Amino acid sequence: MKKVYCIGELLIDFVAENQGKDLTQAVQFTKKAGGAPANVACAISKLGGSAVFVGAVGQDAFGQFLMDTLMAHGVDVSTAQRSQTFTTLAFVSIASDGERDFVFSRGADQTLSYQSSLGKQLQDSMVHFGAATSFLGGPLEDAYGRYLIDAQAGDCTICFDPNFRTDLWKNNETEFVQKCLPFIAAADLCKFSHEEALLLSGKKELSAACAYLHQLGCPVICVTLGAEGTWVSTLGGGVLVPSVAAKAVDTTGAGDAFIGCLLQQLAETESPKKALAQPELLRQMVAKANAAGAFTTQKFGAIAALPTQADL
Ligand code: ADP
Repeated sequence: MKKVYCIGELLIDFVAENQGKDLTQAVQFTKKAGGAPANVACAISKLGGSAVFVGAVGQDAFGQFLMDTLMAHGVDVSTAQRSQTFTTLAFVSIASDGERDFVFSRGADQTLSYQSSLGKQLQDSMVHFGAATSFLGGPLEDAYGRYLIDAQAGDCTICFDPNFRTDLWKNNETEFVQKCLPFIAAADLCKFSHEEALLLSGKKELSAACAYLHQLGCPVICVTLGAEGTWVSTLGGGVLVPSVAAKAVDTTGAGDAFIGCLLQQLAETESPKKALAQPELLRQMVAKANAAGAFTTQKFGAIAALPTQADL
């Protein structure tokens, strides 16, 4: 079984209770462990895989809570860093008009420093670049780019999820797209939402978007489409792999559960790159990953709602 290194942010999501108010009126908040790459690491580990988290939190109580959460899920945190800066915090509320109100206090996640010893350790492993904050500057952005070079040099299976957040890139989408391009070019597998596929390609329609994104260099693209399932596009064409029925109560983390489950299955094969090149095997793996995504929507929270093998 290959190790899957998940690089990026681990943060506290403070979710406002009594939704319907914006942050000026919100009174109570629930503290939740968040950060897409950390969710993916937990998803892999909970399914029996071997996940390593690479990211930074503060030396404060929130940082300790986050480390404890990952360790409780069996994620290897030996390469995580504790920084002097406070742990990154995101405050979220949904107002009565449906608008998301968001305040982001960026702290320790951006301080992740590059370690050449870890770069060498990546050899022959799988590396998931799934951060939402990596292109916002700081040492993390530099480390992210250098680990990509190491992953390519080490013949790793590279996965990229851009995790575009409108809140973080208002009026700056062009810069975001530019920063994603080297990752799409280097990736063996990309996971996009419909919106991301159109944004990154500049196309208006999904098959044209996928054709363009393949041209950039990525051979396998999964576009997750919520309840509909996943559009899997390879150089041989595209196919919709339907999801299973779910009574969704909270869709947070469905995409992370999806890609975590797909990576965990690929990590079990002799050669993940060869597995990605087998259309029927890939379709079966995506069907199981869809079920993992669907399962996660049925409970509140991201990490708390992730499935075990027995659940699927
Ligand atoms: P993201 O969280 O990245 O936006 P999606 O919401 O598209 O990702 O969810 C990822 C996958 O989880 C989907 O491709 C689908 O297979 C499954 N999924 C998500 N929402 C539902 C739902 N309501 N019913 C069934 N399956 C779902």
